Amino acid sequence: MRAWTVASPGPVAEGALEFVEKPVPQPADGELLVRVRACGVCRTDLHVVEGDLPVHRQRVTPGHEVVGEVAELGAAVTGFAPGDRVGVAWLRHTCGACAYCTRGAENLCPASRYTGWDADGGYAEYTTVPAAYAHRLPEGLDDVAAAPLLCAGIIGYRALRRAAVPPGGRLGLYGFGGSAHLCAQVALAEGATVHVLTRGAAARRLALDLGAASAGGARDMPPEPLDSAILFAPVGDLVPVAMRALDRGGVLAIAGIHLSDVPPLHYESDLFYEKEIRSVTSNTREDARDFLSLAARHGVRATTHPYPLSDAVQALTDLKEGRFDGAAVLVDDVT
Ligand SMILES: [Zn+2]
Ligand SMILES: [Zn+2]
Repeated sequence: MRAWTVASPGPVAEGALEFVEKPVPQPADGELLVRVRACGVCRTDLHVVEGDLPVHRQRVTPGHEVVGEVAELGAAVTGFAPGDRVGVAWLRHTCGACAYCTRGAENLCPASRYTGWDADGGYAEYTTVPAAYAHRLPEGLDDVAAAPLLCAGIIGYRALRRAAVPPGGRLGLYGFGGSAHLCAQVALAEGATVHVLTRGAAARRLALDLGAASAGGARDMPPEPLDSAILFAPVGDLVPVAMRALDRGGVLAIAGIHLSDVPPLHYESDLFYEKEIRSVTSNTREDARDFLSLAARHGVRATTHPYPLSDAVQALTDLKEGRFDGAAVLVDDVT
């Protein structure tokens, strides 16, 4: 099969990724072999390719928003059959026995493993996934539309829950890419007023089209104080900006896995009056199930930009440069 691998982490435009020929993987016990039909392009892939995240697996194949068809079952798999449509997401293993796993916080499991970082992902014709971590996908969403839900959507949903928006509350979204535009749809469906703060004119237009009450620049003050905010842009400089936009008792959730350094905070203006900063770490399988069913119920739709699988470098470059709104999705053009 053809697959992209990280040859040596570095700038994506300078050959960090190579498109290679390699054997179709064999599903281990408990795993599914999945024929990839579409794979979303997530900012975390860029962090893996460019070395912002440490190397967990040499020559890893990125990609953790995979929609595909079960091609083969490993030993001891039940509940799936060849031909089933499945989604493969970021979280692919937890221990099930530690204090975090047993209290329902498997996203914090120290033994967790991730698709496209610890194991080969979906920038390829085939991938594998433990059946216990494969997701059923809502009907009525085609493969390309469903792909961004699997990370961008699920993480945006967890960030929304971490941001603890009160009923009818005012939510600010800093950055408006793949994850934020899905999160915004859930927040709006649940009755929040959404203010978007982002640099791109196209993203601001998309925000208003989706129903945001306002869309301004990333460093602008929103038109009203915020009960909650989510920082999607991986820019630590925006933390004090967002904290100053919060009302008393407001909560900022930081959605990214990677963030540039946060500048010093000023206690009085940025933190006092019980403002809170929370990080968001991966997600649980329950988050994924909850989000996928909410997405189906509320008609959450990703704005997608399909790229041929062979153009993965272009897709990542365009993501890095902020050249599109919504989410890029790789579609197999090899066979
Ligand atoms: Zn655990
Ligand atoms: Zn992701």
